[in-house]
Amino acid sequence: MIELRAVHRSYEADEARVDAVRGIDLTIDRGEFVAVIGPSGSGKSTVLNLMGALDQPTSGEVLLNGRPLAKCNRTELARIRGSAVGFVFQAFNLVPGITAAENVALPAVLLRKRPAEYRDEVARLLDLVGLSAKADRLPGQLSGGEQQRVAFARALVMDPPILLADEPTGNLDTTAGEAIIDLLEASHNAGRTIVLVTHDMRLASRAQRIVHLRDGEITHITCPPSGRDRRLEEILEVGEPERR
Ligand code: ADP
Repeated sequence: MIELRAVHRSYEADEARVDAVRGIDLTIDRGEFVAVIGPSGSGKSTVLNLMGALDQPTSGEVLLNGRPLAKCNRTELARIRGSAVGFVFQAFNLVPGITAAENVALPAVLLRKRPAEYRDEVARLLDLVGLSAKADRLPGQLSGGEQQRVAFARALVMDPPILLADEPTGNLDTTAGEAIIDLLEASHNAGRTIVLVTHDMRLASRAQRIVHLRDGEITHITCPPSGRDRRLEEILEVGEPERR
């Protein structure tokens, strides 16, 4: 579904060259939940932006569903960014002057869909993220966690098969952050491919695979125990509460 082949991305900054990504090969299968972890500056955001066609590699290839992004014309790239991939960023990036519901509907409006085509989906997504009662509030009238839930709903409004999340909990407290990761997990259980960029190992361990980056390279890939195994470990560690 998402394939990176020998991908390099360098930036020219102040006459110096920064090699942000240095030869990454990675295949993410349809329906997988992958976390990308690494210290600040290790290239995580660059990798995510390349996957979502927000950026192009300096060399190497990025393929979505077997199609090289370099072969896509502007219209195809716009379609990919608009409806094949949903994005959630650390900064919620909501439009301040319009309501939560209007923010969720925005991708559909930009793709010139008729209200009848997205109205029900907007309502369903606001319900999913627990914000039906606050649909008419402006972003400034919502907490950080609520704003990120609006951004999450907005990312799903075109029902993209892929969801890319760049430090989506970075500006949130633990509880609000957990709520976002729960939503990512639910979205994965509903069949979406999820790529989560984080520097938080606890959050990354909710994924099926963790890609470890350092200095623009993959150092190793690990598979955390699945949720069910974790639950088993907890039971073995503390004993079943009901039986004690
Ligand atoms: P991370 O997400 O792991 O913090 P990034 O992908 O944002 O890492 O950045 C990787 C490296 O590339 C860093 O050294 C960063 O400073 C550099 N970089 C990222 N974007 C740009 C840019 N637009 N111009 C110049 N350097 C950049």
